[in-house]
Formats: sequence, C-alpha cells, structure tokens
Amino acid sequence: MTYEEANSVKELAADNYEVLKNLDIKCIKCDGSGYIDKGLHFPKCKNCNGTGKIKWKWKVKMGGWCIGKNYKTKTPLLITETTDKTGWLQVNCQYWKDELPSNFIPILHWEEIEKILEKAGYRVDINRANPIESYKKSYKYECVIIGGSSRFLADVYAESCQKAVMLAVIELGDEII
Ligand SMILES: [Zn+2]
Repeated sequence: MTYEEANSVKELAADNYEVLKNLDIKCIKCDGSGYIDKGLHFPKCKNCNGTGKIKWKWKVKMGGWCIGKNYKTKTPLLITETTDKTGWLQVNCQYWKDELPSNFIPILHWEEIEKILEKAGYRVDINRANPIESYKKSYKYECVIIGGSSRFLADVYAESCQKAVMLAVIELGDEII
C-alpha cells in the first residue's frame, strides 16, 4: 500500500479494526474441528477450547501501515525493520520488539481484510460499480459482504477498492456486533 492509499482511509482504520478484531476465525491448530486427533483420544483443542474458533489477531508486518490513536496530526506511519536485522520494529523513530503498543491501529490492505473475512465465514464480492447506476458517479467500486444463508450484510460503494472494503467491514459490524 502506498502512503497516499493509507492516507485516504486513515479515518476508517479504527472502526474497521474494531470489527475485525472481534471476528471469530477458524482455529489453525485444530482446523476448526475443536479437537486434536491423537489416535484413540480426541482431546479438546487448547488453542480454541473446543470451539473451533479463535479471535482474529493482528500480526505486525514489515512494510505495513499503522496510525497512532492519540496523535493530533494523524499521519500514516510505515512499519519498518531496523537495519541490523534484530527483529525490532521501527515506527516514527521509536522501536518495539514484536508487537506494537496498543495505541497504534493497523491500516490493513483490502486483500488482507478479504482473507480475514473469508476465514471468518463471510463471502466478499468486489465489483466495478456502474457509474450510471451508482448514486454518485465518482463511486467506482462496490463491496458486498455475504453471510450464512446468503444474507447480504453489507453493500457499499466508494471511489477506491480499499475504501469500499473498509466501509463494508464497518457496515458488517453494525449488523453483527
Ligand atoms: Zn482449535
């Protein structure tokens, strides 16, 4: 994601993240079954406590963008690695090991958001909007999120694909939380 792309959606980042971090996704350890197959016994998966689902958690990525929650001038910040390859993350001239402090919010790329939604059992359709049909002609993209029983949970138009997906997630949040 470029700086311009991150900057254009920074106001949506907090609300978007709030919905995503509350989503239940398929447990990786038991593959969503809730149990670990060890021959005769099927112990409950300790990772998800037998539910088969876990909360989605953001993993810090090099080259990703984030934004400070309490900054007055909110400028997207690029997550970079230090040159000595020690695994420390650099954001805005400050350093953290492994995890960013909680006062930072990620600005996720729409493809990453799509993957998270699919792991949580939602279908995501992204279409080029017909400028004649969409109620504002500058709105070029439509994002639809479909839940179980083919229920439409969000249907959003925006000028960029990134914005359409993030707005759709926020609309999904109104439906499910
Ligand atoms: Zn599990």
